[in-house]
Amino acid sequence: MGALRTVGLVILAVSVFTFIALFGRLPAFRKTPVAWLHRALWVYFPNGIAVVDNRLFGGRVVRCWNQSGSYLLKENHPLVLIFFTSLLVIGEGIFVPAAWPRLSSIHRVCVPAAIILPYFLLYKCVVTKSFITTENHEEEMRRYPYDRVLFHPGHQCSTCKFLKPARSKHCSFCQACISRHDHHCIWLMNCVGANNCVYFISLLVSLSVMLIYGSYLGHSILSETLKQMVPPEIQEAMQGWTAWINTWGIVITANPRVGTVFLLMVMTAPLAISFLAYHTYLIWAGVTTNESAKWSDWKDDVEDGFVFKTKRSLIFDRPLPMDLYDELWPVHTDQILVTDEDPPTEGCLLASGSNCIAHRPASDLPPDPRWKQLRTMRDVDNIYDMGFWYNLRDVVGRSVRRSKETSGI
Ligand SMILES: [Zn+2]
Ligand SMILES: [Zn+2]
Repeated sequence: MGALRTVGLVILAVSVFTFIALFGRLPAFRKTPVAWLHRALWVYFPNGIAVVDNRLFGGRVVRCWNQSGSYLLKENHPLVLIFFTSLLVIGEGIFVPAAWPRLSSIHRVCVPAAIILPYFLLYKCVVTKSFITTENHEEEMRRYPYDRVLFHPGHQCSTCKFLKPARSKHCSFCQACISRHDHHCIWLMNCVGANNCVYFISLLVSLSVMLIYGSYLGHSILSETLKQMVPPEIQEAMQGWTAWINTWGIVITANPRVGTVFLLMVMTAPLAISFLAYHTYLIWAGVTTNESAKWSDWKDDVEDGFVFKTKRSLIFDRPLPMDLYDELWPVHTDQILVTDEDPPTEGCLLASGSNCIAHRPASDLPPDPRWKQLRTMRDVDNIYDMGFWYNLRDVVGRSVRRSKETSGI
């Protein structure tokens, strides 16, 4: 019983540690204990070790650690992918042979499907690249319009030496610019981008289904053992958490292979489900993981009162340059946003080509009434948010642009 509790606590601790180490930097956890623990793990703890090492060993331990650490953190290595795949293979290798004789024929069809699908999707996620190359650059430049809030035209990638398409980002691990960059996934040794996003979401769905289904099967098998070991009248007489934990401890000890993997699945399922829920939320909001960090910066500026908004048509009386307007894109906006401590003044000029820089000819001029201070992010237009179904359509790689006939040009 003590051993079971220890195994359970160890699995729980490893799950919490993995979650904090990998996801603690996500904007959703800003200003929460999760973000602090992530910082403690990656910043305070290494700094503390460095101080001790400097005093005791003249910094030799940290130098040696840095050499291996920089490989782990800065190189696109396969260790996490190997760990992840091994966890799947070993878990299934322990669970399935032990559970198989007790499965009904319908489950004997469903179990292989639930096992094979994540491997297929994992393979597709790893091998499908979303790299922007000189061959597809022109096409990628047309994929999304620049919103001039998060993405501005005219920026060149210093490594790839071409103009960065909207929503793209250079990945130092993959050493390439990534189309519709979401995040670099160390589990996949690859960036999640325009071409493999659909496989990535499908992988999260298939892993969540597999873990829930596996937990259900494990629970059914263990419940059967419970019925055989403990008569129903004694089960009914048992009361309290301790009796419940003790009984299940005995049942799991009687089925160690099914029991251990069942515990592992129950504890890791919430991780897969919460990651799936987070990515579903991102699709609903029309942002990528990369963009959610950028929007969080805007949110902080809005909350501090540093963002001012006006309509482009109020500021510019001349026709819009062609690159500002994408007729075929389903969402349009007339907004101009600037970040500044004080409201833009009369006669304030916008630096050409940018939405974010206000140039002040003189500071003693009165504020320009055409600019409104923003108080909420609800007043900011995100042209990449086309509504959930269109966002989903975009993620699965279907075109969201309107045809020329329906747009009337
Ligand atoms: Zn690049
Ligand atoms: Zn990458």
